[in-house]
Amino acid sequence: MNTLSFSALLLLLLTTSAHAQQPFTVGPVSAAPGTTASGDLTVPPRAGDQGTTIPISVINGARPGPVLALTAGVHGQEYTSILALQRLLKTADAKAITGTLILVHVANMPSFLARTIYYSPADGKNLNRVFPGKADGTLSERIAHAITQEVIARATHVIDLHCGDGNESLRPYSYWITTGKPDVAEGGRKLALAFGMDHIIIDRERPLDAAESVYLSNTAITRGKPALTTESGGMALTDEESIARIERGIAGVMKHLGMRADGPAPVAQPIMIERSEVLRSGATGIFYPAVERGHTVAQGTLVGRVTDFHGRVVEEIRAPFAGEILYVIGTPPISKGEPVAYVGMTAAAGGASR
Ligand SMILES: [Zn+2]
Repeated sequence: MNTLSFSALLLLLLTTSAHAQQPFTVGPVSAAPGTTASGDLTVPPRAGDQGTTIPISVINGARPGPVLALTAGVHGQEYTSILALQRLLKTADAKAITGTLILVHVANMPSFLARTIYYSPADGKNLNRVFPGKADGTLSERIAHAITQEVIARATHVIDLHCGDGNESLRPYSYWITTGKPDVAEGGRKLALAFGMDHIIIDRERPLDAAESVYLSNTAITRGKPALTTESGGMALTDEESIARIERGIAGVMKHLGMRADGPAPVAQPIMIERSEVLRSGATGIFYPAVERGHTVAQGTLVGRVTDFHGRVVEEIRAPFAGEILYVIGTPPISKGEPVAYVGMTAAAGGASR
């Protein structure tokens, strides 16, 4: 064999091995090509808490391709996305997939098992406000650190699957985060279209600093990876429509990324929401909503009232601009500073003139 043909053979071997699917390992979970493996990431105890586990699955396709991480249960009472991933684990055929799926089934196990909204029972923190986390922090910070290091670091694309929390009556929508590099933002826009939900909130206010990324999806974006946050379902319900919408969204994204041959088409005519605002209560008491999710409101429309515990109205909360109610709190407890509703300015409600 002359030198030239030996070099050619070597190049061929290197090229072939570079394009062959390899086993894919996340923490203690390793899946051979064309197989699915499941296990737990462990967050060890530290002073003051017992630690926790993060159940994950790796669905490793037969051919190399994108690595799509799907996270559910960042908020423990957001059940629709958790159940959608349980279904995906059963229905996905690793042999038919190009690339790799990483499923985080319940990101926030302490909150899930204690059935808490917003905040972890372990440290009172909102897991989706402490990213990228800390190796020696509180339990929520250590969960965030594990997800950042073991999951986001291994992924090429990330979708953080949420719904309205246990107290939030929500109409479905995605957040398209425009911060980050232009190609990453464009990648995120395409993920939002591929996921298929027709309301897309344009979010221009996420931090740019990877060390202070705050949110899970923004942790991916500040590391150069397109990501998306989705919302489908709410009020601690497990309705079929909301779960199926998430399954459809994942299938659409997998088709868009070339991970599967077929799947639903991207949304053709999305409503892009340029302006949105979370309305907050100025008082602690009992909340009475005056609108429902999906309602169209005019500027000044009454969204809800807060009374004190003796029945006196202490606050009326009104829409700051014409738009659509994306979510409204559907249970009575309210504390000063907490959200009561989220309003988006949609073209249908007058946003087209802006
Ligand atoms: Zn959430």
